[in-house]
Amino acid sequence: MDPDEVESCKDGFFQHLAQTVPGRKELVVTEARGCTIKSADGRLFLDFISGIAVANVGHSHPKVVQAVQDQMARYAHVNVYGRFALPPQVEIASRLTRVAPGGLNTAYLTSTGTEAIEGSLKLARKYTGRKGFVAFERGFHGRTLGSLSISWKAQYREPFEPLLENVDFVPFGDLDAAGEVVNHDTAAVIVEPIQGEGGVRVPNDDFLPGLRQICTDRGALLIADEVQGAMGRAGKWFSFELWDIVPDIVVLAKALGGGLPLGAFLATGEIFSTFLDPPLSHLTTFGGNPVSCAAAVAAFDIIEGEDLLAASEEKGAELKRRLETTMAQFPEYISDVRGQGLWLAIDLPPDLTMPIVKEMERRGVIVGSMLNSDGTVRIAPPLVVAEAELDVFIGVLRASLLAVRSGKL
Ligand code: PMP
Repeated sequence: MDPDEVESCKDGFFQHLAQTVPGRKELVVTEARGCTIKSADGRLFLDFISGIAVANVGHSHPKVVQAVQDQMARYAHVNVYGRFALPPQVEIASRLTRVAPGGLNTAYLTSTGTEAIEGSLKLARKYTGRKGFVAFERGFHGRTLGSLSISWKAQYREPFEPLLENVDFVPFGDLDAAGEVVNHDTAAVIVEPIQGEGGVRVPNDDFLPGLRQICTDRGALLIADEVQGAMGRAGKWFSFELWDIVPDIVVLAKALGGGLPLGAFLATGEIFSTFLDPPLSHLTTFGGNPVSCAAAVAAFDIIEGEDLLAASEEKGAELKRRLETTMAQFPEYISDVRGQGLWLAIDLPPDLTMPIVKEMERRGVIVGSMLNSDGTVRIAPPLVVAEAELDVFIGVLRASLLAVRSGKL
């Protein structure tokens, strides 16, 4: 693109696309491969947020590209989800249910995370005949009305009220508080086993087993929102596998589609049978789009074939150690390092977070802030990240912190 085309693209974005954050965009993206994003002016950036937990196998992995081209040449959309048996849908559902534990043998495919959450809420209400939901402080589940109702931040919810009634928020990690509100009208407790937008918060080891027990005792379903945490992000297929629990419903999206839009919610066939009464209780046009499913199958096979679960755990542990060393060198700026696998975060003084994020971008590394945790910076590179790319990231982080220390920012 020549400089005029670049400026006209920025103008066009500003004029014709709905703006949800103020300000004209600084970068026009022309390519992305592996961990690298290329801008129209020829600059290269390391993507250390994976397009927000999507590019787990890297951007435009050749095997995903091939699978998409092959499926597109066969067919893309043929009918509303569930009308015909489509091989790519069967393939991805079989793979997911093969790696999912204990009886989670059935998948409903959607297009996005929030849509899969909506489906899971409907399923929980229909199956239990109850209305209420229990969710957690700092939790995030999406922006459509049902998902918004169970997402914590009042600032995002209140302008859109009235939302779903009968939703209680309790502190993440607090079993006593959960025990007080889960009752005979609770359809489900919905939890991110590791909170993403809440700041990559890993709970104490007794929290999820305790929550499982409370749900079982009171007849409520346990929904694990794995939209951000699945597909190797935390070193496992699903982050809840870090504890000895099996949720009743598991919700996925983001990395599932290998870069294409695909979501899913998994449960037992017995729970899903409620969607047959009456028939067509739940439907979507594009859910489980065959091209997205083909991309998902390729991404799944890459995660297995390139051993990316182990890579996430090992590289994540190494990166965490290096972040802890950086924290020791800059104790006045970094107050915490958290996370699991290649799903990490650091806490900075809130007023310095955006200046540091911007300085890192200027130096060629993309990181980002979080919706529900002021001052937290997300660090979640593709699971295929190379050792040398981790070196560049740490170098850029330190250089940016040194720029703050020397008063240059
Ligand atoms: N749940 C969680 C935990 C998420 O992080 C997100 C998106 N950030 C969603 C649900 C919503 O997913 P989507 O943006 O695909 O609707």
